[in-house]
Amino acid sequence: MSSEQKKPQKIIPIKADSQEKTISFFEAHKKIYPRSISGRFMSWRWAMVWLTQLIFYGLPWLDWGQRQMVLFDLGARRFYLFGYVLYPQDFIYLTALLIVSALSLFLFTAVAGRLWCGFTCPQTVYTEIFMWIEHKVEGDRSARIRLDQGGWTLEKIWRKTLKQFLWIALALWTGFTFVGYFVPIRELGGELLALQGGWQIFWVLFYGFATYGNAGYMREQVCKYMCPYARFQSAMFDKDTLVVSYDAKRGENRGPRKKDLDYKAQGLGDCIDCKLCVQVCPVGIDIRDGLQYECIGCGLCVDACNNVMDNMHYPRGLIRLTTQNAVSQGWTGAQIWRRIASPRADLHHDFGRFAVGPGLLYGGARASRLM
Ligand code: SF4
Ligand code: SF4
Repeated sequence: MSSEQKKPQKIIPIKADSQEKTISFFEAHKKIYPRSISGRFMSWRWAMVWLTQLIFYGLPWLDWGQRQMVLFDLGARRFYLFGYVLYPQDFIYLTALLIVSALSLFLFTAVAGRLWCGFTCPQTVYTEIFMWIEHKVEGDRSARIRLDQGGWTLEKIWRKTLKQFLWIALALWTGFTFVGYFVPIRELGGELLALQGGWQIFWVLFYGFATYGNAGYMREQVCKYMCPYARFQSAMFDKDTLVVSYDAKRGENRGPRKKDLDYKAQGLGDCIDCKLCVQVCPVGIDIRDGLQYECIGCGLCVDACNNVMDNMHYPRGLIRLTTQNAVSQGWTGAQIWRRIASPRADLHHDFGRFAVGPGLLYGGARASRLM
């Protein structure tokens, strides 16, 4: 007799669970109320907002001789760029430009993380401008939460109406400017005022609506759920990529404490658990939980935490722009930069990924694998 015959198989009955719950794969969207903050990263963000928007809004109004300086005249199949006129047969230049841009983006991501997302992406830049308007009209985080949770008063109606008016005006101007790169902008302005040019009106409204919806309402959801770059960039990260990180060794155990107490004797780390880093985060994550794909690398949590460290008279940099290797091995800033600038081969995940100079071959090799 075999052992299977000796031991009859145990049957576990499946019971209907009266407490059964339906699990939804969709998380209800929670509105984020970022707190305003000042600091080095915030200043850089605003510098990039000014730079990109001065170029975007200003360029179509500049002339070169008798014509617009930058004009993509699709109807006439001519692109006017400063003193040059490009025809369809010159498409090779556009292809080359796109390839160089793609490789540069991969290279910078491999070396410096999400610089594009945090500082120059139009989604980030317009969200920042729309949030600035919201902040000026409705107040900072706690005032906005109170306003949204309270009933409809005259003050609330007035503030919400003013915000919507400013948002819509900015969105329409953005749509108008964008179309002004394809239709001479002064002619376009005249046509719109005379309510002529059906297609032009359609595209101005279309791009205006896209700006309004993405920067006013969708915000971080575009980065989290819609942006393809956000999804594949993690393939270009390694332990020597610059990322915003929380130094858990230094910060834990977190907890409140009195300023003059010897907190180390009580087993506490440098994190006072004030949650300011969470409140300023435009995507609503807690960087103390580790690197997350939602993080756009804007560095606002660094600014917030540095302000807290200054108040507590602790050294800055509990949250900082660094690399995973630097945090685990306690490298100094100079060591990090030496590592970034030197040739390196990462053999952890696969062979043949090289970074030379600051990562030129590394970015190129990864780019070619992804393209
Ligand atoms: S801001 Fe700094 S101290 Fe405050 S919770 Fe965040 S990591 Fe801790
Ligand atoms: S965790 Fe910090 S760096 Fe990342 S998105 Fe939030 S505030 Fe920006």
